[in-house]
Amino acid sequence: MLIFSTDHFVLPLPPAHRFPMRKYALLRQRVAGVAGAMLREPAPVTDADLARVHDPAYVAAVVAGTLDARALQRIGFPWTPAMVERSRRSSGATLAACRSALTSGCGINLAGGTHHAHRDFGAGYCVFNDSVVAIRALQAERAIERALVVDLDVHQGDGTAALLAGDPAVFTLSLHGRGNFPARKQASRLDVDLADGTGDAAYLATLAIALPRALEAARADLAIYLAGADPFEGDRFGRLALTKHGLAARDRYVLDTLRQHGVPVAITMAGGYAHDDDDVVDIHFATVAIALELFAPPAHGAGRAVA
Ligand SMILES: [Zn+2]
Repeated sequence: MLIFSTDHFVLPLPPAHRFPMRKYALLRQRVAGVAGAMLREPAPVTDADLARVHDPAYVAAVVAGTLDARALQRIGFPWTPAMVERSRRSSGATLAACRSALTSGCGINLAGGTHHAHRDFGAGYCVFNDSVVAIRALQAERAIERALVVDLDVHQGDGTAALLAGDPAVFTLSLHGRGNFPARKQASRLDVDLADGTGDAAYLATLAIALPRALEAARADLAIYLAGADPFEGDRFGRLALTKHGLAARDRYVLDTLRQHGVPVAITMAGGYAHDDDDVVDIHFATVAIALELFAPPAHGAGRAVA
């Protein structure tokens, strides 16, 4: 089982920017303390990888820095060469995590989950859609036929849903806050809209109905799990009310269920915008710790310090 980090590819942001870029380095440091031997730097995805999913004109404009001001505003990041490199590496990390999953049962990208990226535009801090780029690359090399996307970020996976619409080989499940971005939702294969203030018990009960349905319908060779930290009660944007305990129970349920069904899983971190960056890092780290416990017990080199 391998864990891919991209935090060395920093995207320069203005001082008041709301995106918590520092969470990635903090998370990698904590993961290094328990599973340093598993950490890897991913290769970037190529233009050919991106062209299976995105409009080549959009990819070319991202690479050349010729997106107009409105397109960049929709993404939410200023353009720099580092923004392009980071976006390629982040999709590369998800693809590499999928390969790790196919050989060991699980793989982790300590970033990724850029589910608001559409065919010809980016949005909501998402430039390229890492999940779909990875699935299409693996299908192209016949490593997989069918896939399942379990998107538990608090925002709907609208880009993923739109990119995979009408494809019977990939099942998309999204549990998200009804009142959250994006205002205009796309149709996943299974969408669950949650009311503002939904807490642990109601969330977990809903998931326990939705995930088995998705798993059965998907008959997937591979799952990608977007383990968003933004359903957390302390999140600035999330509007739900899950506790850290509830989020850990969510992760354990998803990962254990996939493992019991023999479906390899790649985990991406997706969103997390708590007032305190340390809370976001705690939640992401707990996801990694649970994955290590389930998929890489100490005898196989995970070390003893699994939380
Ligand atoms: Zn989100």
